[in-house]
Amino acid sequence: MDKISIRNLEVFGHHGVYPEENVLGQKFLVDAELYMDTRAAGKSDRLADSVSYGDVCSMIRDEMTRQNDKLLERACERLARAILLAWPVFHELEITVKKPWAPVLMHLDYAAVTIRRGWHRVYVGAGSNMGDRQAYLDMAKKALMEDEEIRDFQSARIIETEPYGYVDQDKFLNTVYTFDTLYTPEELLTLLQSIENQAGRTREIHWGPRTLDLDLLLYDHLVTEDPRLVLPHPEVHKRLFVLESLCELYPYGLHPVTNERFCDIKKRLEKE
Ligand code: AMP
Repeated sequence: MDKISIRNLEVFGHHGVYPEENVLGQKFLVDAELYMDTRAAGKSDRLADSVSYGDVCSMIRDEMTRQNDKLLERACERLARAILLAWPVFHELEITVKKPWAPVLMHLDYAAVTIRRGWHRVYVGAGSNMGDRQAYLDMAKKALMEDEEIRDFQSARIIETEPYGYVDQDKFLNTVYTFDTLYTPEELLTLLQSIENQAGRTREIHWGPRTLDLDLLLYDHLVTEDPRLVLPHPEVHKRLFVLESLCELYPYGLHPVTNERFCDIKKRLEKE
């Protein structure tokens, strides 16, 4: 991926764990590696097709002087978030904040923290089979769409499906959402669970009736083995109703473990 780089941008700030640092202030150097596709600008030679690195420098200065953080980690996190939200063309970035005058009573070139952050494409399965099913799905959609760290939200059609697993219960309304997010997988799972809780979700019977069920199906092409968050979702390739909505949004998507297209998995399940 192409990138725009800013190296050693000098800013005077007041970040630090020691109170003296917050009072006296010191020099910070900021590096930014900003990943975007520069092809269009390279062909047109128009700034409108790119991002002015001067504007990014001004934002870095403003963010670095807007508040005093104890930690460089926190300053990096704020810079990354501000830049990613301000310029949608940057899909990913790396930020380094260096402290050349770090008060360690020894010589050093600098102490620094580097982070890499970016937008991640996710797919979330949504289902409801209790109470006002449509209202619960609408509520989930609204909560996700209104979140600042979520963009480019799309929903598949809502379909009515027979219960899965524990079959002595009402029919479900199901759909799949897709969006880009700045959240980590764990943060996104926590957000999904808090939306389920707002919908009055209780977990009495495994695979039993629920006001709202939100499953993280895919997070980029990430594969995990942690039982608290299995990715891709372990049921994604087994449930026809999930595949139906997923294929509507992601017709040529590949399952990151089996490398099979979801539409081919769906066709196979339909024949079984
Ligand atoms: P459920 O009752 O179907 O909502 O399952 C929720 C439980 O599954 C939680 O304890 C989660 O930590 C765990 N879990 C594991 N992987 C996932 C995933 N990909 N999406 C949602 N929940 C998951």
